[in-house]
Amino acid sequence: MSKTHLGHTARKRFGQNFLHDEYVIDKIVSAINPQNRENLVEIGPGLGALTDPVCERVNQLTVVELDRDLAKRLRHHPFHGDKLTIIEQDALTLDFSSVLANSSQPDEPLRVFGNLPYNISTPLMFHLFDFTGDIKDMHFMLQKEVVTRLAAGPGSKAYGRLSVMAQYYCQVMPVLNVPPGAFKPPPKVDSAVVRLVPHATPPVAVKSVTTLERVCAQAFNQRRKTIRNSLKDCLDENEIVALGLDPTARAEVLSLADFAAIANAVTEKDWPAE
Ligand code: SAM
Repeated sequence: MSKTHLGHTARKRFGQNFLHDEYVIDKIVSAINPQNRENLVEIGPGLGALTDPVCERVNQLTVVELDRDLAKRLRHHPFHGDKLTIIEQDALTLDFSSVLANSSQPDEPLRVFGNLPYNISTPLMFHLFDFTGDIKDMHFMLQKEVVTRLAAGPGSKAYGRLSVMAQYYCQVMPVLNVPPGAFKPPPKVDSAVVRLVPHATPPVAVKSVTTLERVCAQAFNQRRKTIRNSLKDCLDENEIVALGLDPTARAEVLSLADFAAIANAVTEKDWPAE
């Protein structure tokens, strides 16, 4: 299978798998449903598979592209160049609050979308969670396995730190499964599109989100262990029982509300830094 698409040779280090299936592209753009006067931001526009049809519907789009050659192509785009604000940067370090503040409509929260580079998809999700207050919604193409993890509930194998944190910040809705053949070159894994809508009010009250993240990381890093063991340096057995939880349970059966209760109890205590 050729790695060259529209005259550009795909770069593996930038996770470049370009969409070419018109049916899939149409489904994604319909799911996003972009409108004029919205603050639309695309991560990884690449060769424009989503950029072009979105620009056909709206007058303005901000794109974030790390590959210098692709950013240059976009600057010289024959039809849509004038509509694009091009940020040539790593999305992982981009301050999305500044993108909103510097936009022509800073009161209109961002609508972020993209066919993401799979090699950075999980850290990018966590980076974006820091900006959910500035974001109206997100539509992303990801590995199907990551979408399954984002949407998973307690008791499922896919349930983990990413599920708990994603569901703390957002409502998670899988939209569409996409086979490898929809891309050039085809990735080795199945893909899926997900819609993430930040909650106006978090579904559970958490005193410190940093502690929630730390508790989840610690519990799921040792997911085969009971929480009495995996969390022993922050809560003892009696404290776990006092929360109404079973100390012999494993992380994978705890709900977001359970993790919030644990995090709030830990926040009250002095838990030494890692
Ligand atoms: N949107 C195009 C499409 O659907 O065909 C390209 C998708 S391709 C999977 C991922 C895109 O993200 C590429 O254009 C790649 O250069 C860009 N990219 C990779 N890492 C990036 C990063 N850290 N920040 C911003 N863009 C990145």
